Amino acid sequence: MKIVMMGVQGSGKGTQSKMLAEKLNLPHISTGDLFRANIREDTELGRKARQYTDSGQLVPDSVVIDMVADRIKQPDAAGGYIMDGFPRSAVQLAAMEYLSPADRVVMLDLDDDTAIKRLSGRSECVKCGILYGANRKPVKDGVCDNCGEPLKQRSDDQDAAAIKQRLDAYHSEVRTMADYYGWRGVLRQIDGSGTVEEVIEKVLAACN
Ligand code: AMP
Repeated sequence: MKIVMMGVQGSGKGTQSKMLAEKLNLPHISTGDLFRANIREDTELGRKARQYTDSGQLVPDSVVIDMVADRIKQPDAAGGYIMDGFPRSAVQLAAMEYLSPADRVVMLDLDDDTAIKRLSGRSECVKCGILYGANRKPVKDGVCDNCGEPLKQRSDDQDAAAIKQRLDAYHSEVRTMADYYGWRGVLRQIDGSGTVEEVIEKVLAACN
């Protein structure tokens, strides 16, 4: 099953996508995670993406589409996947429909004030990239549970202007996609303001 997860940053989309991937035994494909891994490893793709991700802008469509097209060709994605962070523009939506149309699109709804509050409380490990936030707190403050390295705020969460720009971009782009996926009959909208456990139950039901 090919599932696209949508939701404003801070809606719990990443956490829910990971949990869903585990429960359905499908790979979790997060474009944001793929960019962050490439930036950490200082690959050519990472160097291309960094100038955009640091200022909260979208990476150009051609770069993202090539990256996703490569990823979904991997053998682990033959039975489907949980796509997180893609598509995010009309061109990406068209590419997705052409390459690998989604069977289900789950949209987590959340108001901007709650999203901003959640985002400013997020941090990530400088080494392994694990993300901490309201739903996952480190045992020791500022230290990664997994590898013991320090945590820092994600560079694109530090700047209020960058957060605002990402939320505005999300709202303007999501309308087209919600309209399109709604028309195709695959869209399921869910209230993302509950606890992780409450939301995952609704997400699972939406994927049936
Ligand atoms: P995220 O972790 O989903 O918030 O993504 C972090 C950053 O990666 C975004 O602010 C963008 O700069 C970039 N990014 C992730 N997914 C996409 C996408 N589908 N299209 C363009 N840029 C993206």
